[in-house]
Amino acid sequence: MKYRAVVVGAGPAGIAAVGNLLEQHQTPILWVDDRFDGGRLNRYYRQVPSNTKVKLFVAYFEGLDVFRTIGRTASAPNPIRHLQNLDQEKTCHIAEAADACLALTHGLGRYDGVTMYMGSVSDASQSENGTWTVTIATPESIYTTASAELLVLCTGSSPTTQPLPVLLPQQIGLDDGLNPPVLSQRLPSDTPTTVAVIGASHSAILVLANLSHLVETTHSHLRILWFTRHALRYAEERDGWIFRDNTGLKGTVATWARENLEAGDSPVHQYLQKIETTPESEPTLYRTYLPDCTYVIQAVGYTPNPVPRLTVRGHPVSTLKHIDSTGGFADEHGTTIDGLYGAGIAWPERVVDPEGNVEYAVGLAKFMRYLRRVVPAWTGARESVGMRTGMGSGPGASLHFVLDQKGVESGVSTGMGRLMAG
Ligand SMILES: Cc1cc2nc3c(=O)[nH]c(=O)nc-3n(C[C@H](O)[C@H](O)[C@H](O)COP(=O)(O)OP(=O)(O)OC[C@H]3O[C@@H](n4cnc5c(N)ncnc54)[C@H](O)[C@@H]3O)c2cc1C
Repeated sequence: MKYRAVVVGAGPAGIAAVGNLLEQHQTPILWVDDRFDGGRLNRYYRQVPSNTKVKLFVAYFEGLDVFRTIGRTASAPNPIRHLQNLDQEKTCHIAEAADACLALTHGLGRYDGVTMYMGSVSDASQSENGTWTVTIATPESIYTTASAELLVLCTGSSPTTQPLPVLLPQQIGLDDGLNPPVLSQRLPSDTPTTVAVIGASHSAILVLANLSHLVETTHSHLRILWFTRHALRYAEERDGWIFRDNTGLKGTVATWARENLEAGDSPVHQYLQKIETTPESEPTLYRTYLPDCTYVIQAVGYTPNPVPRLTVRGHPVSTLKHIDSTGGFADEHGTTIDGLYGAGIAWPERVVDPEGNVEYAVGLAKFMRYLRRVVPAWTGARESVGMRTGMGSGPGASLHFVLDQKGVESGVSTGMGRLMAG
């Protein structure tokens, strides 16, 4: 079996990449993810209110013919239809979009051209003729390889943590801070506890709102120290476009911030202290305040997850530079790597608003818009590489097992030990 494309990652971006490749008849597709559970949206953000309006989720779920077909035929209770029936101008719970992502994942797996494979891509090597060979580690550390003409990285990002100049306080991960039931369990309800929150992004304000809710309900002994470098920034509707569309506070989070953090007479100020910082003053301020805190939650951005080790024509690639105009990549010398593409929160589209401000477009509808624009060019570009090198898209490459880390040859004779759907 030869694959036209290997798509790594099954979060919202990987789902959209597989859908776009299917729509362009670029099959067979090998789709690899270590969980196939809808990515971080479903794994960590189900409890988070959405920052986008329902109509933007619907634009994603109706963005392709294949998605519309899945949406019409998903079994009841159909989460895609549920989103379509909500008030389109309002926001919703991320859980509602996450359930629809899961429905798409299952629906895509039923297409003949899509093979889902549970595992983690550890390495990808491109040969002289442009073919990628990827190595996939299954959860049982069985290693397999597969070959394809296109390699698409939709590998996502995780919360960034920065080193702090003090050992105390204990860190609570941002993912736990975004999940009220988990956060409630992590914090004692009957002893004085101070939580430091670093940052002023959408995620930081969500954490402050979650902590504030705990103070007002079950954790009256809780105090909050909020470290911020800048005043709160809100998304603003302009004439046909949105100022700070990707970086500003939106939806219920923006409302909560206005009513509680901005209002001078808000009761929140009885238990929340704001500390304004600059990059220069932070080490001193952290050394002064953090030792008296019990916990710290850093909400200082998201860093792309590690990508598979890449080798191109025998040379390891040490640095990847995303070329957002095409979704492609260049290596550390600035040389474009044929047949390698990326999308999603780790590799977003760079956008410039009418006032010249640069942002990176993150969100389901934006991933879809971007992929609809660039995927037709990927498939066209790769056709010409294939012609130049004499590679067709017919059979020839294969999926087979390689030695595992202990040097033991292992696997299942069909070569599809973790096959989920064909
Ligand atoms: C707090 C928060 C709220 C958000 N709210 C919204 C919202 O309201 N609306 C909206 O549109 N967007 C929202 N987003 C933005 C965005 O839609 C999500 O971050 C989304 O999860 C990004 O999707 P992704 O597919 O790029 O990455 P991910 O969801 O992180 O998926 C990446 C997948 O790749 C897998 N993977 C990684 N490496 C490998 C490998 N080597 N081999 C195999 N699998 C691999 C991972 O396990 C994961 O399943 C929000 C983001 C955050 C942080």
